[in-house]
Formats: sequence, C-alpha cells, structure tokens
Amino acid sequence: MTDETTSLSDLPLRDDLRGREPYGAPQLDVPVRLNTNENPYPPSPRLVAALGRAVADIAGDLNRYPDRDAVELRKDLADYLGHGVTAAQVWAANGSNEIIQQILQAFGGPGRTAIGFEPSYSMHPIITEVSGTRWIDAHRDADFGLEAGRAVAAIEEHRPDIVFLTSPNNPTGTSLPLEAIEAVLKVAPGMVVVDEAYAEFRREGTPSALSLLPGNPRLIVTRTMSKAFAMAGTRVGYLAADPAVIDALLLVRLPYHLSAVTQAVARTALAHQDELLSAVETLRAERDALVGWLRGEGHTVADSDANFVLFGRFADRRRVWQGILDRGVLIREVGPPEWLRVSVGTPDEMAAFRAALEASK
Ligand SMILES: *Cc1c(COP(=O)(O)O)cnc(C)c1O
Repeated sequence: MTDETTSLSDLPLRDDLRGREPYGAPQLDVPVRLNTNENPYPPSPRLVAALGRAVADIAGDLNRYPDRDAVELRKDLADYLGHGVTAAQVWAANGSNEIIQQILQAFGGPGRTAIGFEPSYSMHPIITEVSGTRWIDAHRDADFGLEAGRAVAAIEEHRPDIVFLTSPNNPTGTSLPLEAIEAVLKVAPGMVVVDEAYAEFRREGTPSALSLLPGNPRLIVTRTMSKAFAMAGTRVGYLAADPAVIDALLLVRLPYHLSAVTQAVARTALAHQDELLSAVETLRAERDALVGWLRGEGHTVADSDANFVLFGRFADRRRVWQGILDRGVLIREVGPPEWLRVSVGTPDEMAAFRAALEASK
C-alpha cells in the first residue's frame, strides 16, 4: 500500500494520447440547456408507456445476448430512410459516433489519412486521431460553404483514405449541394462519409446524399436518432451504404455491441415516428424565426438547415457566453472565434435565450 496517488503521466499511455483532454460539452445544471442540439421535446406519456412495454417484453430474455446483427432494427431503419434502401444496406451502433469509429477502424488506421473541412464536427478529427489515422483539415470557404472545385483539389492533393463531408454541417448549419458531393465521389480514392446527423431539419428543396447511393459503393451516409428523433439518451446512430461496406464493418464491430434494450427502444421510437417527427416542423419554424430575430438585432447569422444557429460576431465571445449563462441559459462556445452556437428549443426556452442575449451584449 502507498498513499501516493497515481496520475495519468505515471501510466504507460500511448504517446499519441499524452496531453489530450477528454472531449465533451459542459454538462451544467442550468434551467435552459441549448448547447448540444438535442430535441427539447421529451417523449409523450403515450410513447413513454409504449417504451416501458417494449422493454418489459424483452426483459425476460435479458439472460441471453441480443441479436448481434440487429436485423429487425435495420429493417425498420431502412423503411424509415426510403430511397429504396434495404436492411442489407443499413448498419446501426451506439450513436453515430460509434458508427464513425467503426468506419475508421475498418478503413483508416496507422499510415492512413482522413480529410475534413473545418469548422465542422469536432468528433471527426478526434475519432480519426484516436484510431491512429492522420487527420487533414482542408477548411471550409469563408461563408462556411465548400466550393466543389476546391474540395476536389484538396482530395487530389492529399489522396485521403476517408473523406468527411457534414451536411447540414455542425456547427455552421450549412448544407452542401449534391453536385459538390458528386464531384468529391468522382475523385476520392477511398471512402466518402456524408454525415447527415441533422438531415430531418433541412429546408425544403435541400437534397440528401441517400439519392447518390446507387452506383457509389464507396459512399456512406450516416444518420442518428439523437437529434430529430429526440432519442439522444438511447444512443442509436446508423448508416446507409453498399452491403459490402457493412461486411467490412462486421470485421471490426464488437459482438453484441447494441444491447437488446437499445434495439427494443429504438424500434418503438421508429414505430412512433409520426409523433416524434411532428416536433421537427415546429423546430424548423422556430429556427427560421430565430434567424430572422438575430438578423433584426444586427447579428451576422449563418443560414441553417439544422436545429441550431451559429451567430456572431463578438470580439469577446466568452464574455457574451458567460453573460447568457449567468442568466440561466447555456449555449455553446464552439466553431470559429467570434461566433456562438445556440440550439433551437421550445418557445419558452427561446424567449429566455433572447432576453439573456439582449442583457449580455
Ligand atoms: C450530434 C452529431 C452526431 C451524433 O451523434 P450521436 O453519437 O449519434 O449522438 C454526429 N454527427 C454530427 C455532425 C453531430 O452533430
């Protein structure tokens, strides 16, 4: 026995992990939380009851391992996606973060590279580097878009094993035109991942990369139940791709990675998709109103196809973020300096945010 405490630096940690900080948005106990892009509407009492029944129905089998291949859930997800997608083209995991991790494990690794266009989702470079893959940031355009010619040039220059395109992009809200994705698919030597975590929130007429799946066996479209589906606590993400891609992921996934409880809860949520997705309309309208209000107040606001809005510009964004937090509203200090991101909440939450921002300027 010794009473000296061990610190991380005493452990034989991988050299490339030394000095890293654990990632995650602050989880603070404040009245209004608009910092992680969750759907603010909890499940209805009717859905809560259905979820309870679904878990009770499988509870008697919890001594057994779950369906390793989540076949029924994948069928339900394929039906939900449409676009002619079949269960053999769908794969599910514990959040789309785990999906991305499995993609890196199968197609990245030491000696390989992944490219992204930042500002974008911070987990792409983190999961990439933790998998031993080298990350390349080729930057978005000044207006947060991505001009196809520039994306193509970056891919031709770096020849990455994996390309990440996020549409609608987090934290900017920006969608990519299909032509840009098609141009990337033409030149990419490896896999192309289109992260569509916010797809359900996109504005009318904004297409999904799902329509590009036929004839593109190296395209992977990732989705999640954490945002529009209001199931962040369930941890279910999924992808659509050529069945051969799923064969590749089966090599790296842990057996029984998706618990029987998770599968039952996700299938019940999908059976109630009309109720869950009805809030999406409300949130899109609330988002568009928020963009209008922020612009009316003289802020610069990025067009948003998601359930959050990036706005600025503040010489000292930390002061504004803190001022808003002091009034009980937590938003996110993320993305390019001078900008802040706020998730779209309920009308009451948005009123609290507007008042807090007014008082903090
Ligand atoms: C929130 C988010 C995800 C998803 O996460 P889960 O692990 O499914 O909760 C993936 N990609 C982007 C761009 C996101 O913002």
